[in-house]
Amino acid sequence: MNVLVLNCGSSSVKFQLIETDSEKIADRADVVHLQGLIEKIGTAEAIVSYTFADSPLKRSSEELLNHHAAVSRVVQILEQGAQAAAAAGGTQGRKLAIDAIGHRMVHGGEHFTESHLIDEEVVRGIERAIPLAPLHNPHNLKGYYVCRDLFRDMPQVAVFDTAFHHTLPPYAFLYGLPYDYYRRQRIRRYGFHGTSVRYVSYRYRELTGAAKTTSNLIVCHLGNGCSITAIENGQSVDTSMGFTPLEGVMMGTRSGDIDPSIILHLMTKDELAPHEVATLLNRWSGLYGLSGESNDMRHLLNSMAAGDERSKLAVQVFCYRIRKYIGAYWAALGRLDAIIFTGGIGQNAAMVRQLICDRLDALGATLDEGRNLSLGGREGVISAPNSRVSIWAIPTNEELLIARDTYRVVHGLPLP
Ligand code: ADP
Repeated sequence: MNVLVLNCGSSSVKFQLIETDSEKIADRADVVHLQGLIEKIGTAEAIVSYTFADSPLKRSSEELLNHHAAVSRVVQILEQGAQAAAAAGGTQGRKLAIDAIGHRMVHGGEHFTESHLIDEEVVRGIERAIPLAPLHNPHNLKGYYVCRDLFRDMPQVAVFDTAFHHTLPPYAFLYGLPYDYYRRQRIRRYGFHGTSVRYVSYRYRELTGAAKTTSNLIVCHLGNGCSITAIENGQSVDTSMGFTPLEGVMMGTRSGDIDPSIILHLMTKDELAPHEVATLLNRWSGLYGLSGESNDMRHLLNSMAAGDERSKLAVQVFCYRIRKYIGAYWAALGRLDAIIFTGGIGQNAAMVRQLICDRLDALGATLDEGRNLSLGGREGVISAPNSRVSIWAIPTNEELLIARDTYRVVHGLPLP
């Protein structure tokens, strides 16, 4: 089955066409026929970039004034690819047909605990979660509406970032606020990055043969957004992102945890309005705010190597806070099998992994410096052979998980 995977943001659409089925999943032989990104939607200069399997990247600037135009463009790219392949005498035409669509949905609220075929009731459920993710859910839903217009009865599936964390126990998801705020407004920890965390923990079990029901893991998803998740017996039991993706460890431009009184102080002393505080905490903070240079870890590591003190400080704060979360979740789990790094930073930045793991050897997780340095963005173990707790880097693949979930949901197969 060919699944069109769509991740619709406010001004961007990420897309992939992935061929998958039970046999391909078992053999890890899923095929990515097309992947691409449309940015700056809503302007006369939207940037369209895509690549078909084994062919060079194409990039152009086009007028795409809304999501309807953008998703229609994706369909056109597929049609043109099929025609070109047919003209060249290939069988690619059939391969590029769409059989189902899988959507990344950021927030499923408390209602959605796994991926779902989208019908009117599911749409209403996603709409009910809009107040919890006003910057994400409306755009994710737009992708669904456009595809419903374009494809009518084609099955569409929602895969939620929050779903994997539905197993958090109340003592982990409740804040120390009056209980009424949870009862009336559903203010609680939801957690995000669930699709990524589910994928890498599944991949870890595939690589090690470990059983789901006995695996205790800490997954560090470190990209532009960063989160740490504690997994006990295969289930998420705590995670650093909370009511929104702002909580937890420090990120590229997000502050992560701060004393909430700082917000009150800024609103009173600097007379900042709520939207200004939101911008400060979400876009001007984190690695960017501390370094005064960049939110890009590659840039900061280079500046640090060149002797820039503020970049060094930003990287130190970043790594120190992650190490503290690992320690806290290790204590919460009691027993730990593995620490897994993923996301652009987690899967690529050996120096960051080294700084995070410094001192964890005292607890039983010893990094092997040689393995860590030589891994180079691939998947593999980076702990020393005698380390009680293993340490891994595993590249994430949220699109693949969305495609596989879509296939399974459409065929009524159980979700792993
Ligand atoms: P997003 O959360 O937007 O999906 P990514 O997972 O792609 O982001 O992660 C982006 C981050 O990964 C950036 O800070 C980038 O600098 C960092 N990164 C990517 N490759 C490397 C690398 N080789 N070394 C260090 N950092 C890297």
